[in-house]
Amino acid sequence: METRSQAVSDRTYDRKMAGKSLSEACREKGLRMTRQRQVIVDLLENSREHLDAPTLLREARRRVPAIDKTTVYRTIKRLRKLGLIDELDLLHMGEHDGHFYEPLPEKMHLHIVCMQCGKVEDMQPETWAEMEREVETKRGYSIEMARVEIGGYCPECRRARSGA
Ligand SMILES: [Zn+2]
Ligand SMILES: [Zn+2]
Repeated sequence: METRSQAVSDRTYDRKMAGKSLSEACREKGLRMTRQRQVIVDLLENSREHLDAPTLLREARRRVPAIDKTTVYRTIKRLRKLGLIDELDLLHMGEHDGHFYEPLPEKMHLHIVCMQCGKVEDMQPETWAEMEREVETKRGYSIEMARVEIGGYCPECRRARSGA
């Protein structure tokens, strides 16, 4: 039982923290902010893209050359366990075939991934609320997290593929 609830909580949002800045949420969770951790948190917070671990490491090293891989990977794990960042598959379209991370979104959203160029867009469809209502009211769940990914070709790649 213990293992199971841990496994589940490992993947659960802390929705109270959603919408706060990641640094703020870290402080509220009592995470000691070393300079290296702060750099990682800032990168996650300010990136306009969804970052994977190797990219995060590369970017962190540009700011703090001494930062090591273990620190970056441990920090990611820690933030996930605290429910402060979400781990995404994004169809494993990144160059490293791994997961991507983003701070808890204020509002849950789905991701559209271009299967050619790897571009990722966030989207909150109007029907999202309806879907949540159905899960909560009709099925009786309390939603703690939601993850939807749609793969396809973006307008630019479609044009290129059709040879126009
Ligand atoms: Zn594309
Ligand atoms: Zn996103």
